[in-house]
Amino acid sequence: MPYIKRLATFLLLSCTLRLSAAMANDTLIVHVYLHDELAGVSEQSLHSNYLQHWEDEMRAFTSHPIEVIFHRNIAGITGIDYAGRNNAKDTLQAFHHAVADLKFQHYPKGINKSILVTENVFETLDNGNVIQGLAQFEGNFAIASRSSYASPAHEIGHMLGTTHEDAEKQTKAWVLTCETYGFPERAWNRPHCYRYSDANRNNIIAHLQRHSQ
Ligand SMILES: [Zn+2]
Repeated sequence: MPYIKRLATFLLLSCTLRLSAAMANDTLIVHVYLHDELAGVSEQSLHSNYLQHWEDEMRAFTSHPIEVIFHRNIAGITGIDYAGRNNAKDTLQAFHHAVADLKFQHYPKGINKSILVTENVFETLDNGNVIQGLAQFEGNFAIASRSSYASPAHEIGHMLGTTHEDAEKQTKAWVLTCETYGFPERAWNRPHCYRYSDANRNNIIAHLQRHSQ
C-alpha cells in the first residue's frame, strides 16, 4: 500500500515491452491541474518557474519519454476548497477521488501522475509549521503549493519513488551548499539545487522501469 509522505517546512513558504529491435517505454505523463485561483497566471510562466528545471533534471539522468499536460477549469477538481479543509491529507484524498471519478478513465496510455497545484499552503499546524505539499509514495496523486519553486518537483518525486532519507546537501560552488529536491524541511539560507540526489535519481529510474510495459 502506498503511504503518505508529507513536506513540512519551517519557512513560510510533493514490464518493458520488447520490440523486435528496441525497448519501448511508456511515457511518463504528468497531469498538472491548476487550481482555479491561478486563473490569472499563464501556463507558460508556471511551466518555466516550476517545471522546466524539473524536466531539465529528469532529462539529465533518464531518456524516458516525458510529457506534461496542464488542465484547467475542470468542475469538481480545480475548485477544491483546500483552505477551508486546512488538512493536507483530506485535500489529497479529495483530489484523488475527483480525478479518479471524472477523468482518470480518459487518460492516455502511459505512466499517469496527477498533481494539483495551488497558490497557498494546505495546512498550518499547531506549532506554526505549514504543509506545502503531499504525495502518495509511488502512487499517482499529489498536491503542491507554488509557494516554493521546488515544491511540485518534490512531490512528483515522491510519486516516482524519491524519499527524504535519500535527499542530500550538495556543494554547488566552493562555498555554496544547496538542497536537492527531496529535502523535507528547507533551510532559509540554503538554495535549491534543482536536482535530485543520485540515490533519488536511481529510485526514479527503478520506478519508471517497474511501471513501463
Ligand atoms: Zn516530502
